[in-house]
Amino acid sequence: MGGLGSGRQYGKPTANRLESINIKDVSAGNKANGFVKYSYWLNGKLVGHLVHLEQAECNYGGVRYWFTCPNCHRRVGVLYLSSGQCACRKCFNLAYKSERETNQDRLYRKPGKLRDRLGWRPGIVHPDGDKPKGMHWKTFRRIKFKHDVIANRICGATMEWINKRKTAYATTQSR
Ligand SMILES: [Zn+2]
Repeated sequence: MGGLGSGRQYGKPTANRLESINIKDVSAGNKANGFVKYSYWLNGKLVGHLVHLEQAECNYGGVRYWFTCPNCHRRVGVLYLSSGQCACRKCFNLAYKSERETNQDRLYRKPGKLRDRLGWRPGIVHPDGDKPKGMHWKTFRRIKFKHDVIANRICGATMEWINKRKTAYATTQSR
């Protein structure tokens, strides 16, 4: 194969960690409300997303619905849920790309650097802070999104480790 687009350096975000939602699956009731709510458990925490819907007139009459990406506010037909975030493919590709270019050690240090830029207390165990004065909302959202994706990934890896230990412990105990 060759041709246009074959030179992509990174693939799709890891599919098994990523769930997608399609505008086609949104009920008529939700469309009438103008928003959809998604909630699920992640690392023992209830995560909720409120996604706004937009409608546009079709050339052939009728209306077509779109999601508004909660991160970049672009109009999209598919949104992805991963690492406690809900965003469009473009947003995730950017976040995953920076993660993939980072080795494990640096990945663990990355949230610290991002928190530093936001003037937040170091350490992902601490609550998130607010937008620093003088920083553009766009910049703030971009940094926070990256921070949350990486922080949740680290948190997930830690939970996996704990659960494995728990299982191992339970197996020893039941003998
Ligand atoms: Zn987006």
